[in-house]
Amino acid sequence: MMNDKSANEERLMADTQLVRDYLATVPHQTSLDADQREGLRSKIKTLLQEKRAVLVAHYYTDPEIQALAEETGGIVADSLEMARFGRDCDADLLVVAGVRFMGETASILSPEKKVLMPTLEATCSLDIACPIETFAPFCDEHSDRTVVVYANTSAAVKARADWVVTSSIALEVIEHLKARGEKILWAPDRHLGRYIEEKTGADMLLWDAACIVHEEFKAKGLFDMKALYPDAKILAHPESPSSVLSMADVVGSTSQLIKAACDLPDKTFIVATDQGIFYKMQQLAPDKQFIIAPTAGNDATCRSCASCPWMGMNSLEAMYDTLLNENNEVHVNEELAEQAMKPLRRMLDFSQQKQIAVKGKA
Ligand code: SF4
Repeated sequence: MMNDKSANEERLMADTQLVRDYLATVPHQTSLDADQREGLRSKIKTLLQEKRAVLVAHYYTDPEIQALAEETGGIVADSLEMARFGRDCDADLLVVAGVRFMGETASILSPEKKVLMPTLEATCSLDIACPIETFAPFCDEHSDRTVVVYANTSAAVKARADWVVTSSIALEVIEHLKARGEKILWAPDRHLGRYIEEKTGADMLLWDAACIVHEEFKAKGLFDMKALYPDAKILAHPESPSSVLSMADVVGSTSQLIKAACDLPDKTFIVATDQGIFYKMQQLAPDKQFIIAPTAGNDATCRSCASCPWMGMNSLEAMYDTLLNENNEVHVNEELAEQAMKPLRRMLDFSQQKQIAVKGKA
């Protein structure tokens, strides 16, 4: 894989361009007034009831979407919990507010339910940077390694893997594989991979991709912000660069960071992950202050700073249209779904044996 400085710079430029291209083409969000928003929310609620549908939303979606999920008996969670909830709930139709791979995972775990998404265009830089066409030959080249992929991948990449993991179970799975003497091929997030490699000492070959949101958090800015808020604790998601993680008081998945925000006695937190998480943090710890960790600034992808542009595509308008017309259905090829289910099932069984709550950003 590409590991030298110039290759990294090239990839970062490609990621930056990716976001710029997206922002240039995405239709400008309609600015609705309060009455119009309330009208849409009310229509969505009615449609959810009429169609025996459930809304499952990711922590990084707009707070308005998260609130709607909670008010209508749905869930706000990480991607795997979204899929599990969707699988176990008594509904005919799932509306998944998140990014494409989350809809796919929901469909794999709930083949008997119809899965819709407000948009099928919402993707993820990790998913994009790990196409099956190059990933499969890479795995073939290193057939002596156990293939472990992060949940932020396509169904095809999951189907090629031995294990799928989320951020909260990744350490335990890699420790388990290391104890069995296995060497790992890890994909796609290199920051999370490096973090786990350092923590476990496992032999890990890392795919070279990154989350465009978390990669923008910078140690220098964090250092300056910490000077302004010396009593604040720093919470960081492990998709952030290692220089940021080394400054963090808590490194963890979305659920782990929310838990830390609630459990720690501190009153102020600087948070290095998508700002959508503030909805849940503020809801569960209303007496505390949460501050967005600083990002790179004008030179990079600052319009998406601490805010995933793809998650942002889950608007009220798109959701209403999807529910009304039942469009944007997620289809996963049956054979592929069966293959992808195997590494997913391996993780679920492992977590059950170890009694680990499988929660993570995914
Ligand atoms: S926040 Fe990062 S990892 Fe999550 S969906 Fe967006 S690009 Fe992907």
